[in-house]
Amino acid sequence: MKPKLNNKNIIKTAKDICEKYKICDNCFGRLFKEIEYGKPNEQIGKELRKKINISNKIHPKDCWLCFGLLEEINKFAVISLKSLKNYDFDTFLVGTIIDEEILFKEKTLIENFKLKFFESIKNELNREIGIILENKLSKKVDFNNPNIMIIIDTQFNTIYLQIKSLYIYGRYKKLKRGIPQTKWFCRICRGIGCKSCNYSGKMYTNSIEELIAKPTLKMTKGEDESFHGAGREDIDVKMLGNGRPFVLEIKNPKKREIDLNELNEMINKKNIKKIKVMNLRFSDKNEIKIIKSKNFKKIYRVEISGDKNFDIEKLKKAALSLQGKIISQYTPTRVARRRANIYRDRKIYKISIESIEKKEATLKIESQSGTYIKELITGDDGKTKPSISGLNGFPCYVKKLDVMRIKE
Ligand SMILES: [Zn+2]
Ligand SMILES: [Zn+2]
Repeated sequence: MKPKLNNKNIIKTAKDICEKYKICDNCFGRLFKEIEYGKPNEQIGKELRKKINISNKIHPKDCWLCFGLLEEINKFAVISLKSLKNYDFDTFLVGTIIDEEILFKEKTLIENFKLKFFESIKNELNREIGIILENKLSKKVDFNNPNIMIIIDTQFNTIYLQIKSLYIYGRYKKLKRGIPQTKWFCRICRGIGCKSCNYSGKMYTNSIEELIAKPTLKMTKGEDESFHGAGREDIDVKMLGNGRPFVLEIKNPKKREIDLNELNEMINKKNIKKIKVMNLRFSDKNEIKIIKSKNFKKIYRVEISGDKNFDIEKLKKAALSLQGKIISQYTPTRVARRRANIYRDRKIYKISIESIEKKEATLKIESQSGTYIKELITGDDGKTKPSISGLNGFPCYVKKLDVMRIKE
């Protein structure tokens, strides 16, 4: 149970502290804060001093504990406001870095006098500065997930801002082959820039990531970005239909209240016949995990060619026998460097034949997420079983592959 301020033990402790140390009313009151939580610390200090009959007023500047630090609260609020000027945010949280000596003295007091109802000086500073900022800005303190964390170094009067990333969800279509999903650094210089990459540092001039991120960074005045796709298609594969989900993370954005319709239009206008984005909306960190782990079924359209003319009945039979089956795929050579070498089971839901013309055919395949479609066609030297090549009786190759739909 909480004692009252005039409890015998409390009075004795208060007296002992006052006799030993010169501390200001604010610091004095703070040591017993929880007994009278609703009152300002300074008032608690004043009342206690009356009760113990020691009425020597200590100016905060002469306070053994805080050296007048608490008198600077307004100043800290003012410099915080200044540093926040160019940022959009709804919620914030204040943190402070305090002189080690003050913290050590506080700890000593608490331990020596076995104080149980104290509030830390850090807590008081954070709270009081937070209240001033809430009022001046008409914005709210958020302890769990603030847009901006304001860290005040009270010794040097400097402010550090930790800005929460801005997350934007959307879907992209890739209308042209040859564009990688993400930035692909030059293999030789690893991004520095060399003769072979024409000093761009990159293997490809553009990527889906950059085409979407560049205008977004400009609009949000962000510093950096990170692109998270729900899987990826190969560089030579188009992504059509309803598009592929992604979350773009903008780091250190100054503007977070941007018009997503305007952004959407801007991206699409700039990239006609390359990419198209849609369904843009604000998102959060959590959605990255969701889109990364979700197993989306996919529908592909694949143009294949064979060593011989296709026989319609035979190809139909091959397609039919794969339908509803689970195939086994050993990690293809082309991705072996990036993936563990294991057998993976993948389900083929549907295969239909769209057209057959001599040595060429077009198939529509619906399969489990993670199916290597190219290998399903070629058989990858027996590493994918069964395959169209195997069932058909002669080698088949992929001419063109498009993702037609990502199902949810
Ligand atoms: Zn003090
Ligand atoms: Zn290079």
